[in-house]
Amino acid sequence: MPPLPLKQAEEVGEYDLFVIGGGSGGLGAARRASGQYGAKVGLAEASYRLGGTCVNVGCVPKKVMWYTSEVASALRKAASYGFGDDATNYKIAESFDWHKLKEKRDAYIHRLNGIYDRNLANDKVDYHEGFASFIDKNTLNIKQHDGTSYQVKAKKIVVAVGGQPTVPTDEEIPGASLGINSDGFFDIEQQPKRVAVVGAGYIAVELAGIFNGLGSETHLLIRYDSVLRTFDPILSDTLVPWAEKEGLNIHKQTNVKKVEKTASGSLLVHLDSSDKPLEVDVLVWAIGRNSNIAGVGLDKVGVEVDKKGDIIVDKYQNTNVDGIYAIGDVQGKALLTPVAIAAGRRLSNRLFGGPQYKDEYLSYENIPSVVFSHPTIGSVGLSEPEARKKYGDDKIKIYKTAFRAMQGAMLDEAHKAPTAYKLVTLLPNEQVIGLHIIGEGSDEILQGFAVAVKMGATKKDFDDTVAIHPTSAEELVTMR
Ligand code: FAD
Ligand code: NDP
Repeated sequence: MPPLPLKQAEEVGEYDLFVIGGGSGGLGAARRASGQYGAKVGLAEASYRLGGTCVNVGCVPKKVMWYTSEVASALRKAASYGFGDDATNYKIAESFDWHKLKEKRDAYIHRLNGIYDRNLANDKVDYHEGFASFIDKNTLNIKQHDGTSYQVKAKKIVVAVGGQPTVPTDEEIPGASLGINSDGFFDIEQQPKRVAVVGAGYIAVELAGIFNGLGSETHLLIRYDSVLRTFDPILSDTLVPWAEKEGLNIHKQTNVKKVEKTASGSLLVHLDSSDKPLEVDVLVWAIGRNSNIAGVGLDKVGVEVDKKGDIIVDKYQNTNVDGIYAIGDVQGKALLTPVAIAAGRRLSNRLFGGPQYKDEYLSYENIPSVVFSHPTIGSVGLSEPEARKKYGDDKIKIYKTAFRAMQGAMLDEAHKAPTAYKLVTLLPNEQVIGLHIIGEGSDEILQGFAVAVKMGATKKDFDDTVAIHPTSAEELVTMR
């Protein structure tokens, strides 16, 4: 559905609900309120496409790239399983055409944008294309791309504007703007030969893994000694040595001091850990994200934000201003698509779903998440250090195991990826309060186990569940 024509948009009258932002959270809230409960709902999206970060420059195109890198990995293993020979298969892996794949990936995203348009229309949400900002707590200005503006009125307003990558300024790090961020990653037309990725979180690990898997010389620049430091240590302790073995150059205890462009167009990345600069074709900043609140006019209506600029909400997604709510990345907790969607839907249930939903909210505890590394990581609940801190050492019992998955049996040593699993249990009944897994298939294994953890399963419940053989996941119900 195309956005509303200006004349119609100006004449729509007061909405029951207006949503700022057509990403995961905003679409979830708007469609639930209108499609399911018949509320009169409008939604503004400032970019030219619906779907937000996840669809356009996040989860979806990232996963396509991750699959691509897995295909390259499978080619390198193929001879071990009797397909051709290494020389030929490695050559095929090296023949990867980044540009061709990008065109296909972009077309796929474009199709998804169309599906999002149609879904919004089917659920009878009015789509306003433009940048929304507060005039007062019930009035928004919608500024269109041609510079014209109009106003809309709403009884309730949801702020779901998401975030954007954090990048150092050139004042902080001279030449920092010569680098790109994760949005820019999806614009790359040809595979860079040499890449540096700065950061140690989800995005840095995932993008570095993709580049490395596809054969770019890849440098991961981290400030401390490990990656994913907010996760259980078993994950990084397993991932880091394996990634290094796979050829990823991890520069520990390293900060970028300066970036320069050479006459040939390459970048010289000066590090505080070495006198010799790194020469690369692309530098990617992946050091976190910050909320898109600039220009939204939160100050005009008195919506409180924290020091980082994230909107402060209570467990019901209420801001401090009556009738204004915030969901998704803009509230700074658990920046994940299913979280934004769930928070949006639950909020609309509460606001429009009648008495049975009057206490509906999203619990931010036990949210499962996956890092699409090589091999993948899955994590739900408390890490071992978090659990020990919360309950004390004497209340915590740990189960862990490390092994090579059966797939490795036919593979050369160089391709036998590690697997490591940990259960964090709370005494006396050994309730599983944390489950952390790394190894092939962890991304798909986690979901079912997350249900068990959410339901309060104990180690005995795990033990009472018959294993599925031969799988890696069976180790989770047979640990001693
Ligand atoms: P967004 O999806 O960012 O949507 C906000 C929308 O609001 C945008 O479309 C923006 O244009 C619009 N907007 C902003 N300001 C205004 C305004 N004033 N007026 C109108 N419109 C406005 N999560 C996962 O669960 N799994 C993954 O594998 C995963 N991978 C990721 C990979 C990358 C590289 C990145 C960057 C993120 C990834 N995420 C992943 C996180 C996920 O994308 C976000 O958590 C999710 O998109 C947040 O949804 P949201 O609705 O809060 O914001
Ligand atoms: P993260 O918050 O995950 O990680 C950023 C990391 O970068 C920090 O933890 C920090 O690690 C490091 N860092 C921070 N500042 C600097 C600096 N100045 N120089 C060098 N390193 C720095 O952010 P991301 O950008 O990776 O991702 C944003 C969010 O998007 C994630 O938190 C996640 O919620 C979501 N996401 C989810 C994915 C998924 O579900 N698979 C995939 C991608 C994103 P340290 O302190 O160790 O240096």
